[in-house]
Amino acid sequence: YGDYNQKIDYVFKIVLIGDSAVGKSQLLARFARNEFSVESKATIGVEFQTKTLVIDNKTVKAQIWDTAGQERYRAVTSAYYRGAVGAMLVYDMTKRQSFDHMTRWLEELRGHADKNIVIMLVGNKSDLGSLRAVPTEDAQEFAQRENLFFMETSALEATNVEPAFLTVLTEIYRIIS
Ligand code: GDP
Ligand code: MG
Repeated sequence: YGDYNQKIDYVFKIVLIGDSAVGKSQLLARFARNEFSVESKATIGVEFQTKTLVIDNKTVKAQIWDTAGQERYRAVTSAYYRGAVGAMLVYDMTKRQSFDHMTRWLEELRGHADKNIVIMLVGNKSDLGSLRAVPTEDAQEFAQRENLFFMETSALEATNVEPAFLTVLTEIYRIIS
């Protein structure tokens, strides 16, 4: 913890949204602490985690919010979205329904968040390729139509997790600087 005196230039709030069990908490654990736990419990209590990084010689603190078991439709409160400049819209690529629900989540996000919010569609669990239920092309098409970034990730294998968050953070930085 040598960063006590670190000057923070920017704090960017990012929200994680999507159905329960798609891997939101594990994506956050992987990005913020490089951890993964197989028996991840439903998130209770902890509201966000932070990770500080440098973009273009500026110190950026990413404050990443995770839903605390409020994934039921419309259960996420507006306080959760307030001030968010980025969002990870996560589905499980082995669960078609979690992808079909992206439309709702996007609608809810757009209804609550800033209109310039940077959004990444994330197809998680790419390590379970043989169980794939969502073709990459379907997700790509949706992302293109809705003007979202898109990546397939594995929190388990640490595939594309950092690139997904960094793309969002860098784009936010580009917009505000
Ligand atoms: P959340 O409800 O969206 O926060 O989902 P969790 O992060 O709690 O993960 C739900 C379940 O999926 C847990 O059993 C995780 O271990 C598992 N999981 C999360 N990410 C991955 C992944 O990338 N690959 C695989 N195979 N399992 C994952
Ligand atoms: Mg969770």
